[in-house]
Amino acid sequence: MTLSDSSSHVRIAIVGAGFGGIGMAARLAQAGERDFVILEKSEGVGGTWWVNRYPGCACDVPSHLYSFSFAPNPNWGRRFAPRHEIQTYLERCVDQFRLRDHLRLNYSVHNMRWDESEQQWLITNQHGQQLTADIVVSAIGGLSRPAWPDIPGLEQFSGRLLHSQLWDESEDLQGQRVAVIGTGASAVQLVPEIADQVQHLCVYQRTPNWILPRPDRVIGARAQMRYRRLPWLQKLIRFSIWFNAELRVPGLLWSRKLAWGHKRLAQWHLRRQIGDRELQQKLMPDYDIGCKRVLLSSNYYPTLMQTNVELIDTPIARIEERAGNHAIVDQKGGRRPVDTLILATGFQATEPVPTGMIVGRGGLDLNQVWGSGPQAYRGICVAGFPNLFLLLGPNTALGHNSVILMIEAQIKYILNALRHLQQHRLQTIEIRPEPQQQYNKKLQRRLRDSVWNDGGCGSWYLHPESGLNTTLWPGFTWQYRQMMKRFDADNYRLESR
Ligand code: NAP
Repeated sequence: MTLSDSSSHVRIAIVGAGFGGIGMAARLAQAGERDFVILEKSEGVGGTWWVNRYPGCACDVPSHLYSFSFAPNPNWGRRFAPRHEIQTYLERCVDQFRLRDHLRLNYSVHNMRWDESEQQWLITNQHGQQLTADIVVSAIGGLSRPAWPDIPGLEQFSGRLLHSQLWDESEDLQGQRVAVIGTGASAVQLVPEIADQVQHLCVYQRTPNWILPRPDRVIGARAQMRYRRLPWLQKLIRFSIWFNAELRVPGLLWSRKLAWGHKRLAQWHLRRQIGDRELQQKLMPDYDIGCKRVLLSSNYYPTLMQTNVELIDTPIARIEERAGNHAIVDQKGGRRPVDTLILATGFQATEPVPTGMIVGRGGLDLNQVWGSGPQAYRGICVAGFPNLFLLLGPNTALGHNSVILMIEAQIKYILNALRHLQQHRLQTIEIRPEPQQQYNKKLQRRLRDSVWNDGGCGSWYLHPESGLNTTLWPGFTWQYRQMMKRFDADNYRLESR
């Protein structure tokens, strides 16, 4: 297939060239499949690691566990890899698995419709070009649509406006009065990076986060050489990182008492880094640790102590403009001038698919089907959407470990499903509604008493209307991997050609 073809057909179309898309493609290539394409809206591979370019962007999962098990990387330069290293790693995977010819960059999927008569997906891109595919694997990720806060005056703001996800690397903040709204994972990485450049930095916090120290360090050339020579050593380290992360599950799911150690460590970290009692109080969360994503940072608190940095925990009332000068006004009447406004306000995680983007049988719009919260069978298939597989779909994100483990489990399941289709000469596969409902009932029961649902905080894990946790996997990663080992054909409606 070439991009110039106005109409073409492939067996498998993968949407997105991040970890999910590249991993899926690599495994397909290894299995001898040639008839697939990877459709990517950006001009490079990496997904979230291509798009997010704010200063300080890095991964808070240790590097040795943040790679495919089938493509280890002995060349990681830091214990917590910065964005560009991860993107380079994925670029390397593209070459290693000879995926370049399958890649269609700058190809933004506008919509995908199930064509009942042809029993295939019709994909239309931003230029109106069309492509048909027997199977679609959506690897668009759950955190790809930026969330814009509903703050009066924001729409009229005519100063410089940045979102952490939509960062222009040529932005110069030198000497500017800057305000950052939000104090989540993105903000704690970017605030320390820009504080020294700006004249004044106001950090607007709505809810404080639990923050643990980030034991980052350089991985030197000698250590990299050791990993190249002794791959088992890196595997051992990978295993120990994974194992330690799994130990957090009981404290998240079963009893808060089991998270006591983490809570004490976070409290100690705050008291040790912030001498000022008043600031300490502002930064101390009043909900259970783990309820929101626990952040890792060793330089965020010290940055807040700088003389040109101010933490404001009074809610924002509005953004206003007078004679060309902008200011943020808080609910106590505090008015702080701002030249550049940075939104570190996260993503539309509970509405990951826009209206009209994925349309299944009988015109079913996935966005509407998911109106009161995304739901899928094992996070991967949705009734009414034949031949569609989701990577990192509903309830397969993690609050404690590396999502690459989940992606690999899903890829394995999809490969087994595709094998089943081929062996039995089948054309369509669709999850039946009953197993999907039963699966989700059980899942929500397990989530009910978890720290995410019952830990005394609001978070992007929960759907804003239904209150359901539609994002996280409630268990150990090995449990999910175990469940995904075998393709359970009995739960699917299968039709032959
Ligand atoms: P986020 O965790 O959703 O944080 C958004 C922040 O914006 C929160 O502090 C939130 O306050 C605040 N906010 C939202 N709307 C607001 C409003 N109207 N007024 C005032 N404040 C508002 O987003 P994020 O920091 O971009 O991170 C999202 C996720 O991306 C993370 O949880 C993580 O999974 C991923 N991420 C990962 C890494 C990594 O290292 N692997 C790095 C960055 C991001 P509330 O807390 O009160 O809602």
